Amino acid sequence: MNAANVSLKEKYSHFIGGEWVESASGRTFETRNPATGELLAQVAAGDASDVDRAVETAWQAFRTSWSRTDANARGKILYQIAEVIRNNSEELAQIETLDNGKPLMESRLDMYLASECFEYYAGAATKLEGKTVPVFGERLDYVLREPWGVVGQIIPWNFPLLMAAWKLAPALAAGNCVVLKPAEQTPLSVLRLCELLSDVVPQGVINVVTGFGPEAGAPLVKHPKVKKIAFTGSTEVGREVMAAAAVNVADVTLELGGKSPQIVFPDADLDAALEGVLLGIFYNAGQQCSAGSRLFLHEDIYDAFIEKLVERTRRISVGDPTKPETQMGPLVSREQQKRVLGYIELGVKEGARVLVGGQAPEDPELRRGCYVEPTILVDVQNDMTVAQEEIFGPVLCVLRWNDYGTMLEQANGVPYGLCAGIWTRDLLQAHKTAQRLEAGYIWINQYDVYAYGAPFGGYKQSGVGRELAFETLYHYTQQKNVNIDLSGKPSRWFR
Ligand code: ADP
Ligand code: MG
Repeated sequence: MNAANVSLKEKYSHFIGGEWVESASGRTFETRNPATGELLAQVAAGDASDVDRAVETAWQAFRTSWSRTDANARGKILYQIAEVIRNNSEELAQIETLDNGKPLMESRLDMYLASECFEYYAGAATKLEGKTVPVFGERLDYVLREPWGVVGQIIPWNFPLLMAAWKLAPALAAGNCVVLKPAEQTPLSVLRLCELLSDVVPQGVINVVTGFGPEAGAPLVKHPKVKKIAFTGSTEVGREVMAAAAVNVADVTLELGGKSPQIVFPDADLDAALEGVLLGIFYNAGQQCSAGSRLFLHEDIYDAFIEKLVERTRRISVGDPTKPETQMGPLVSREQQKRVLGYIELGVKEGARVLVGGQAPEDPELRRGCYVEPTILVDVQNDMTVAQEEIFGPVLCVLRWNDYGTMLEQANGVPYGLCAGIWTRDLLQAHKTAQRLEAGYIWINQYDVYAYGAPFGGYKQSGVGRELAFETLYHYTQQKNVNIDLSGKPSRWFR
């Protein structure tokens, strides 16, 4: 037992065909609590042979049972998955907080959202229809949407169970079996979920192979029997995944990085904007692809806004994520902590100024964990590295603007295009700006609000394809066209 009152096993294995399976190599790796450095468990380190076993098992389950399970029955199973998550949300949330470091309140919200995701796709399963096409002559032409069979899914560590839900729910609803590889930093919650689902999901429909990216992720992408890959993670690895998927001409959807602008107009409701800016950069300690990491503040309200922003940022309570009063926990790993602190240092070298934070907290209690203070950088120019690259931590870059055209150019002037926030009372201005922003998901007078049904995904290098929407089901199916002669007269080409 540990501080969070859940009992973890000493060792976790792959979950394949409804059973715990050790790595063929016998190798394992450690997963640690980033708040304390404490060892949580040993986890099987998978490689190509484990992936192969999982893919074969998944195909077997597809052929023998899942492909014969009709949409209504699949939908009911997804409803049951949602129910299992809801009934076990406290335990799953505690595991998430131990493995990832996010405050318990955030983990609980993740579990709530994960169960809602399964419910959305539970209802969608029976609505996924083909079509008929009015073709020439006496013919009938219809189009079926068929599952790929087995899909490979690779997810990151920032929202471990929620990202698993975003991926699993539409894939299963569309009729696929899955081999999923969780991030090596945070494998525990999805493994526990698999265990809890043993009476609900038929064996072999969901398989989990744990391990590192190059050893366990790459072979999944390149597996000849996996024709569909869905990946969420860094743009750098996304590019590799896309290239590797080309080997078998596999279909890919990618949800990658972001460097999203938050644009505050002088007429905005500044209190609301302040809340949205804080949420956008400090939720999950900034470890989210949607993070509003570049704040464009109009010069008329710059000083007043910054004063309040600094004051509120200082008040964020950073600490033990299992404590109810904690608002920000550690980053996920020592490596991530070093990366983020490195970016702050680089920003200062480039000419930015630290207004708040900028370091690992002094508190000796927190030294054991991978903490970084909530940080605000001002005097940032859009061409600085800290304004161009995704930091993936609690670091806000502030840019001052006065000319609308220049501001828009800068807001769009990054390789990414995931999200954007617009703060103004002038709705005409807001809609106009939304049209001109190169981003896949835009919020007006709010931030970080998601809705199942609304397509989430990126422009430019932030990704390919959309999640959370009905059309996500299309990514998990392929079309089969059937064209039938109704005339009964043989068509003669060669006379
Ligand atoms: P981050 O940099 O935020 O850790 P990554 O993009 O490195 O994100 O990782 C996201 C997921 O991709 C993880 O599950 C990781 O193990 C996996 N991964 C990393 N490298 C590869 C690779 N070469 N092929 C497939 N998956 C990979
Ligand atoms: Mg861990």
